[in-house]
Amino acid sequence: MQVEQEHNRPLRTLVLRKDDIRKFIELLIGAADHFIAPRRALHDDVAFAEVHSADEVELDYENSLISPASYVLPQREAVFTYAMTEGQAPEVKATPEPESHILFGVRPCDVAAIEYLDRFFLGGEFADDVYARRREAKTIVALACIEPQNEACWCTCSNAGPVARSGYDLQLTPMDDVYLVEVGTERGEPLAHLAHELLEPADEKLVEERERLIKEAYPKFERRGNIAQAMRWMSGDQTPEELWEELGAKCFSCGSCSLVCPVCSCFDTHEYVEDGVGARIRCWDSCHFPGYSLEASGFNPRENEAERMYHYAHHKLCGDTFAKYGRPGCVGCGRCVQVCSAQIDLPRIAQMVREEGWSCKDCKACPHADVTAAAEKGDGED
Ligand code: SF4
Ligand code: SF4
Repeated sequence: MQVEQEHNRPLRTLVLRKDDIRKFIELLIGAADHFIAPRRALHDDVAFAEVHSADEVELDYENSLISPASYVLPQREAVFTYAMTEGQAPEVKATPEPESHILFGVRPCDVAAIEYLDRFFLGGEFADDVYARRREAKTIVALACIEPQNEACWCTCSNAGPVARSGYDLQLTPMDDVYLVEVGTERGEPLAHLAHELLEPADEKLVEERERLIKEAYPKFERRGNIAQAMRWMSGDQTPEELWEELGAKCFSCGSCSLVCPVCSCFDTHEYVEDGVGARIRCWDSCHFPGYSLEASGFNPRENEAERMYHYAHHKLCGDTFAKYGRPGCVGCGRCVQVCSAQIDLPRIAQMVREEGWSCKDCKACPHADVTAAAEKGDGED
């Protein structure tokens, strides 16, 4: 099963010897205010954090629990501040200009998640200025996967991996004793220029070899749900209520699945005022929380877990999401698989929707038939 993905050709394709990767990273470290990369943390976990030396960078790592997308949409941020003086209107101040960051070693699923967030916050009628300024200050250096990082990965089902086809400024693909280095955007060019003594143009044979490796990688991913077919079922409302009741009964409403999901974009805002200085704070929220949809009147349109589970799955898998953002609301990073103690992660939900839903291929009532048909193009591997 494949979901169509935008495929931008790189501006340039280069080669870096694996022996030179630490030198390459040292050159990049000085090129922004902050260099963020995968780093070993406590208990051998890997987390994206600031590093100051190439030796700190972990090049062989499983996805971090918190995605590097959190540098684009932080868990908590002030969207503006204000000074409160008695008897006067508050004086509102914009937040300081964001400092520049290089996000190094971002896996293709997280690159796709950041592209999704870009479309969500910047692609509509209103652009989110705070997001836009923060995003503008980020340069993304992707590190492609040539095989799954663990059994939870299912990026191939939503066509977000194993290599990024767009959304990166530079991308490194590990091959035998070299990295294939793709310059994806003009923003990536200065980095390639900085390291020009370590880079050489790649020949066509190496590019073809990389495509062969990608093909070989596909069967290594444990496919855990046919996402395009699940989208068809969800879009046509072809799922029985009992499915959502069963899933709702299992769900603890802990919100973990959406809080670790790099695609989930829901947020809440609140005021924080101390000593006459206030801030409007934006922080991540989860549609699994009972209070998420609670209205000021006390009415809650999604007061039980079954309704919230349906809403979550529908938003991830319906054709509307695909039509608006060019992909399902999932990039196959596998994080929800790792955190959901009820074992009702999105791949499992997609699988159950596929098994429990009924075919709507001929249903004329589905408003998303064209979109889901496009998403199913290439289907048949599952
Ligand atoms: S699906 Fe799992 S992780 Fe998500 S809210 Fe329910 S119990 Fe928590
Ligand atoms: S739904 Fe799960 S697998 Fe999909 S992007 Fe979110 S956390 Fe990753």
